[in-house]
Amino acid sequence: MNIAVIGTGYVGLPAGAGFAKHGHDVKCVDIDEEKVEKINNGECPIYEEGLPQLLEEVVTEGKLEATTDTVSAVKNADIVFLAVGTPMDKEGNINLDYIEQASKDVAEGMKEREGYQTIVVKSTVVPTTTEEKVIPILEQSGKEAGEDFGVCMNPEFLREGTALDDFLNPDRIVIGELDEKSGEALEEVYSDFEAPIMRTSLKAAELIKYASNSLLATKISFINEIGNLCKELGIDVYEVADGVGMDHRIERSFLDSGAGFGGSCFPKDVRALIKFMEDNGEEPRILEDTISVNEDQKTKLVEQLKQHYPDLSGKTIAVLGLSFKPGTDDIRQSPAIDIISELKENGAEVKAYDPKAIENMKEKHPEIEYTSDYQEALENADAGLI
Ligand code: NAD
Repeated sequence: MNIAVIGTGYVGLPAGAGFAKHGHDVKCVDIDEEKVEKINNGECPIYEEGLPQLLEEVVTEGKLEATTDTVSAVKNADIVFLAVGTPMDKEGNINLDYIEQASKDVAEGMKEREGYQTIVVKSTVVPTTTEEKVIPILEQSGKEAGEDFGVCMNPEFLREGTALDDFLNPDRIVIGELDEKSGEALEEVYSDFEAPIMRTSLKAAELIKYASNSLLATKISFINEIGNLCKELGIDVYEVADGVGMDHRIERSFLDSGAGFGGSCFPKDVRALIKFMEDNGEEPRILEDTISVNEDQKTKLVEQLKQHYPDLSGKTIAVLGLSFKPGTDDIRQSPAIDIISELKENGAEVKAYDPKAIENMKEKHPEIEYTSDYQEALENADAGLI
């Protein structure tokens, strides 16, 4: 099938490369010319394990091409995936500017398309967004949803750090569909993926994504509370997590106590669900606590450090690990950002190390020292925070 993917970020690019690996002809669209140029040269603009190799392969084979021209990509596509960002605004709502603009661009391309095609929202959007915001914009093409074109909502569950593997081997594929024909068209794209496919309504698919991320974030905040108690009692929280996680009803993953969750998804998605519940007259008590435990957790490491050095001024502290989790160069909402700020406010000198995320962190914290060798970071340091 001919597929267009709008947005070549942490979701769009693994998805585009993954579809190309499955034999589809993929056009990846982005407004960022530099990214487009890199992709067409077979270079990967983000760090994700396995992605540079696959990208080079599918670009060389001519199965994937990047472009800034949305209209021609959409005109020739049987299926169009919208995978642009949905960041958080100041009130905690999702900012729909990118998805609305991308939908307008897609509508222009739809005018040129002869015959049926299906538009799929892959970006994370709160329930009813596809029906109430995206479809009316797509219909500005002069075509009617459910008649001239299909619409699906297909949430993405990949994790940064293992994005490609997660995309290619998902636990499940959720297809929210406007009507049966739309769902059939999208199911065909995934026909040779080995994963159960769930077909549902557009708004249930939207909510499944938020409920999944919010539950995972809640697991992390829960184990962090238990971890804080463990520290008081001299118990290893990882042993507790192992014991708890052996129960198949609970499962071990997302029970690693640490500096709290970050990244571009959990903080934004939990906040967006809180706001959405409030707007719908519900009280999101558990989710409010998930966020507040996480906020406190970020700087717990510095509190622990102060038990050893009550006065941090003039001390050199190595910070090992800057991205929000291993295996990625993404520092969005990384606890390391707050930890470094707290150390600086306490007068410490910071020497920071990360295998992939140094360049990104330099934009947030240009004032600290960086090293590409973790041993060098620890040399002559008074303490190291991992
Ligand atoms: P990102 O910011 O990494 O990438 C978005 C890309 O879209 C950028 O390259 C940007 O230049 C491009 N873009 C913006 N407007 C455009 C337009 N009009 N036309 C073409 N390109 C345009 O975002 P991301 O992390 O890939 O997330 C995308 C969506 O997927 C979000 O809704 C996010 O919540 C969701 N999601 C993210 C993850 C994750 O781990 N990052 C996982 C699951 C779902």
